[in-house]
Amino acid sequence: MSDQLLQVDGLERHFDGLKAVDGISFSVAPGEVVSIIGPNGSGKTTTLNLVSGAIRPHGGSITLAGARIDRADSARIAEHGIARTFQNGRVFATLSVADNIEVGMHSTLTASRPFRGLSNLFLLRWIPLLGELFIAIVGTPASRREGRMIADGVDAEIHRFEARLGPRRHDPAYSLSYANRRRTEIARAMAQKPKLLVLDEPTAGMNQSETSEVLQQLLDLKAEGQAILLVEHKLDLVMRVSDRVIVMDGGRIIAEGAPEVVRHDPAVIEAYIGR
Ligand code: ADP
Repeated sequence: MSDQLLQVDGLERHFDGLKAVDGISFSVAPGEVVSIIGPNGSGKTTTLNLVSGAIRPHGGSITLAGARIDRADSARIAEHGIARTFQNGRVFATLSVADNIEVGMHSTLTASRPFRGLSNLFLLRWIPLLGELFIAIVGTPASRREGRMIADGVDAEIHRFEARLGPRRHDPAYSLSYANRRRTEIARAMAQKPKLLVLDEPTAGMNQSETSEVLQQLLDLKAEGQAILLVEHKLDLVMRVSDRVIVMDGGRIIAEGAPEVVRHDPAVIEAYIGR
């Protein structure tokens, strides 16, 4: 078995005959930061959508920690250990920062609960209403323990962005600055304790100082051993944070390697930097 965390082989996806992703293969090792760069329309976001289960591939395979995930939906893939953020920063607008992060925690807790399908069926549907009411009000030792775990987890993720999100923890997401919405989104993804964090242009729309802050946050995550698959346009950030860079053009991988090697590859300069 491969010792890679993520293994992608011969991945294909087309849209009405257009080969958006045309048979690409790559891997991400545990703790590795891998970036995908390339001109607009080269297939980067489609690749992230395939890896995170937002869309299904038309060919090839995706394996996470030894388990095939290319036929699973995005909820199952999240349970397998992939959390992602989106290009435009998706948060639940009316939920507070803390509640948004709690949503991320819940997806891991539900995944780790044994027989959750059965308990939904038997406990929630068939226990008499009074019994349910009692549990809801008083709680069980397990539910109180879970409540504490959630509160600690939310605190830990807010602490990651303390200066920015700390004072805003109870504010609804719609009232946040764009950069804080994106921080909240990353915090929510990290609350899932993912094996692989997938980030789609985390600095899009950010100014230089906000971008530097995100770079520092990514370096911190990397130092914690977090594996990351990143799509990002800002080459300086990519070069500083990545262990390996994959360059796509026309749905294919045209170069791959250490940041400094890729930066000087003539095909890359022609396809990406030179345009
Ligand atoms: P990138 O992220 O590198 O800019 P994308 O993966 O978004 O590229 O797109 C790759 C190609 O696939 C583009 O030509 C794009 O127009 C096309 N494409 C992406 N998603 C869809 C879709 N849902 N329907 C039709 N075409 C799409």
